[in-house]
Amino acid sequence: MSVAIKRRGLMLVLSSPSGAGKTTLSRRLLESDANVTISVSATTRPKRPGEVEGHDYLFVSDDEFRAMADAGGFLEHASVFGHRYGTPKQPVLEALTAGRDVLFDIDWQGTQQLRQQVREDVVTIFVLPPSRVELERRLHTRAQDSEEVVRRRMAKANDELSHWAEYDYIIVNENLARAHAQVETILEAERLKRSRQPGIPAFVETLMRGG
Ligand code: 5GP
Repeated sequence: MSVAIKRRGLMLVLSSPSGAGKTTLSRRLLESDANVTISVSATTRPKRPGEVEGHDYLFVSDDEFRAMADAGGFLEHASVFGHRYGTPKQPVLEALTAGRDVLFDIDWQGTQQLRQQVREDVVTIFVLPPSRVELERRLHTRAQDSEEVVRRRMAKANDELSHWAEYDYIIVNENLARAHAQVETILEAERLKRSRQPGIPAFVETLMRGG
């Protein structure tokens, strides 16, 4: 029989330069771990071919974004590549309250804001590409963005890379299966932290009483 012990959900942040494979890694983790929910961000950037409203992002206008921000509806928000991105607060709070873990695909600016607000519940991972050449190759093979967008994202890579030391864990994504296993290992260990298992005192008491 398995024992269900109450625990608190955590917030798992994945950041990386564009093209390091973090979106693919996120999808893998969502498929392999039924307790993880992804936070769907709002953005003012145009939808890419294949992206689905409400699944990849909530695609909103500048005015809609501003209204959400003014109403305090975001946990964090930032400008990235000239567009605005933000994490809607309500779905995250609901998932955490239900004991689920929430995955965030956000940049270093959002990570800093999140950490300031909810320090003890945030676990952060920075994903590095195995090489500069590979980073560029991945941006090109994504083929959803124009040459100009790829060029701008490569130019921004150093800016994003310079924040690696602000993260709890660093993964070099050379092999997707291995990187995925590493994310799962981190998640598993973080879930086992004493502070994230508020049900343990009562459980141990029962054990001691022989119940
Ligand atoms: P993309 O346009 O390629 O989907 O995302 C560009 C960058 O914006 C990525 O680094 C992604 O992690 C980041 N991003 C996506 N959503 C959010 C968000 O809600 N907040 C912040 N701060 N960054 C985000």
